[in-house]
Amino acid sequence: MTKRALVTGGAGFLGSHLTERLLADGYRVICVDNLGSGRRENIKQFLQNDDFQLKEVDIRKDPGLPPTDEVYHFASRASPKDFTEYPVQIALTNTEGTRHLLDYARDYDAKMIYASTSEVYGDPEVHPQEESYNGSVNIRGPRGCYDESKRFGETLTAAYKRKYNVDVRTIRIFNTYGPRMRPDDGRVVPTFVTQALRGDDLTIYGDGTQTRSFCYVDDLVDGIRAVMQVDEPTYDVYNLGNQNERTIRDLAKEILEATNTESDITYEPLPEDDPGQRKPDISRIQEDLGWEPTVPLSAGLQETVAHFERILRE
Ligand code: UDP
Repeated sequence: MTKRALVTGGAGFLGSHLTERLLADGYRVICVDNLGSGRRENIKQFLQNDDFQLKEVDIRKDPGLPPTDEVYHFASRASPKDFTEYPVQIALTNTEGTRHLLDYARDYDAKMIYASTSEVYGDPEVHPQEESYNGSVNIRGPRGCYDESKRFGETLTAAYKRKYNVDVRTIRIFNTYGPRMRPDDGRVVPTFVTQALRGDDLTIYGDGTQTRSFCYVDDLVDGIRAVMQVDEPTYDVYNLGNQNERTIRDLAKEILEATNTESDITYEPLPEDDPGQRKPDISRIQEDLGWEPTVPLSAGLQETVAHFERILRE
């Protein structure tokens, strides 16, 4: 029998790549998106596919969706730039929205993946971050609308599991990049790549010694599928990311090389609460599910640069 999946945020960056994989694997996919940060452009190639359906609804209200077998809950703006403009919407998407999806999974007996984030670790005092670390989040700060609501979303998943035995698995996604990010998304890879391709200077915030670890989107989708496919996961929560830690200054240099541009680097103030370092400990998923990323940053950046070259030409 054909398997059915529901992907919230299916028109977004991660959601659309996941949808593509599920369709290729023979699933019927219902994409749920209010097209806030998600874009029709990301899913236009699926619209003629009979196995694909777009439901343009907002999960903050009870979306009233048809049954499926697997739920991938990926809806939420995730760019720090959006935290200033949409704090209330973001906080409610990850709380009220998550509640609606958990009700849905319970009522239809669907397996569910909840997309949490490395932001639950806040500005971490432990490095690299392992799943048992409870994090250091400024709940009232500018990132709190996202960080703390994702944390409460996790609390809800644990509560639904305890109370209703909902089969919900949580993934904490670390910085991920690739084609279909918005050029104006604000996150560092699309920002640097588009700046470089336009010949503008790359804007490093702070002194650029802060670190991130960048995972290519195809690797991430493999990891998501691995977490959904296992019958009985040993753990409720898995870090998903690449351990390839870089300073933002080194990332800027790599992007300058990958784009072969005349651009220079300028320095701008570091945003409040910007985490100083971030790198996932992925030993849990490596040992339990055998997943680890395989795409090197240079190869992933090539794909990403090619994508933005196309976009900027249009
Ligand atoms: N950053 C930067 N210049 C930019 C955008 C981001 O130096 O134009 C830095 C940002 O301050 C942070 C890192 O790049 O230290 C990653 O930022 P991003 O918004 O991509 O994601 P985050 O990991 O902070 O959620």
